[in-house]
Amino acid sequence: MKKFSFKGGFHIHGSNAKKALTTKSQIIIPKDPDYLYLPLNQQLGRPSIPVVEIGDQVKVGQLIATKDGNFSANIHASVSGTIEHIDYMINEPSGQLSKSIVIKNDFNNLEVDYITRTTEEAMKLTPKNIVDIMEEAGLVGLGGATFPTPVKYSGTKKCNTVILNGIECEPYNTADYTIMKNHCKEVIRGLKYMMIASGASKGFICIEDNKMDVYETFRQALSGDTDILVALFKEKYPQGAEKQLISALFNKEVPYCGLPIDIGIIVNNVGTAKSLCDAVELGKPLTHHYLTITGNIKNPSNYYVPIGILFQDLLEDDDLKRNKVLLAGGLMMGKAMYTEMTPVTKGINAIILLEDLPQVGQELTCVRCSSCVDNCPAFLSPTTLTQLVKNNRYDDLDEYGIVACIECGTCSYVCPSHIPLLDYIRHGKLELRRR
Ligand code: SF4
Ligand code: SF4
Repeated sequence: MKKFSFKGGFHIHGSNAKKALTTKSQIIIPKDPDYLYLPLNQQLGRPSIPVVEIGDQVKVGQLIATKDGNFSANIHASVSGTIEHIDYMINEPSGQLSKSIVIKNDFNNLEVDYITRTTEEAMKLTPKNIVDIMEEAGLVGLGGATFPTPVKYSGTKKCNTVILNGIECEPYNTADYTIMKNHCKEVIRGLKYMMIASGASKGFICIEDNKMDVYETFRQALSGDTDILVALFKEKYPQGAEKQLISALFNKEVPYCGLPIDIGIIVNNVGTAKSLCDAVELGKPLTHHYLTITGNIKNPSNYYVPIGILFQDLLEDDDLKRNKVLLAGGLMMGKAMYTEMTPVTKGINAIILLEDLPQVGQELTCVRCSSCVDNCPAFLSPTTLTQLVKNNRYDDLDEYGIVACIECGTCSYVCPSHIPLLDYIRHGKLELRRR
């Protein structure tokens, strides 16, 4: 059985044991909270613009903020109730204080009238119809990048292949696994709608070899389908990064500062495909999604949550007291939160509570072992970039390809001298952006 892989990266020790905390758990639907906090800043582009006012009554699925420009996205109410605030009330998971729409839940769960379609009707939609649905539904990449989905399908460049990313290489996260396990058919139909929208003739569903059960489920579901193939990948971090995925599958490179569409490829997360299927067939915008809540807690599980629910409404007090570290997103690429008064946004697919972070030794001198260079999946020289940053040579960073760094943290992880290479590189990127 062929298994794909990319050059660089590393195997995270104990990753499967961490995933095993939640792979067999039931999906939990939490009690609806009294208040929902929906930041206007949930996507890569500009914050969305509110279309409701304080005091308005809203229903589940109702548009409450509209996109502001191409890289922005619509936002919809995830509970029914009253708009109580539109203000800078709360930090969203990136740490930024974000203007948010606060809905007071009336617990009536009133929904807007959704426009539904049979699969047969949906398969006859035009590419423009589907891109319009993506836009209306407020779809963004649910793998964490929050790149607005319709932008990928704008048709400015020819697409021949759509790849669905079901790799999920973060050690604790199993939300994508849960989607693939429970919604195989919707994920496949979502991919078919993406292929119609892009004009692509080929689709791939990419799964790591630590999820053989879902790999087999998809292979069986697609037996006889010659347009969509299921590809198996060796478990390695960061296999889920889109450029590494493309490199492993096709042995092709996305150009420096370019996008996969520059070589005729679109990559989307499996969760985005499921959400597109819901939008096309059920008429439902993106109001809920799957989330792994795990770590040093009593009941690690996968949840299906309304977007805008606070971490506080999902976590047990005892678990919070027992742990010092609260991570949003993932152990490797997620961010540490200083408060549980943070809302779940479209891009958050895991919340992890840990007693502490792994202790890193004191930073020593570089011993020129080349481990960071050998393992960098973006083929960079992290040690050189770090030296440039340390010597304030910011203007030279571009020449050494700093923009290609995907911030996977592999270099810091493998460095025997405990040099926080990624921290230096992030600082260099920030300094470059400021200039
Ligand atoms: S330089 Fe960037 S891409 Fe390369 S290993 Fe370090 S964090 Fe990952
Ligand atoms: S891994 Fe660390 S010690 Fe080795 S070359 Fe890179 S920076 Fe130097």
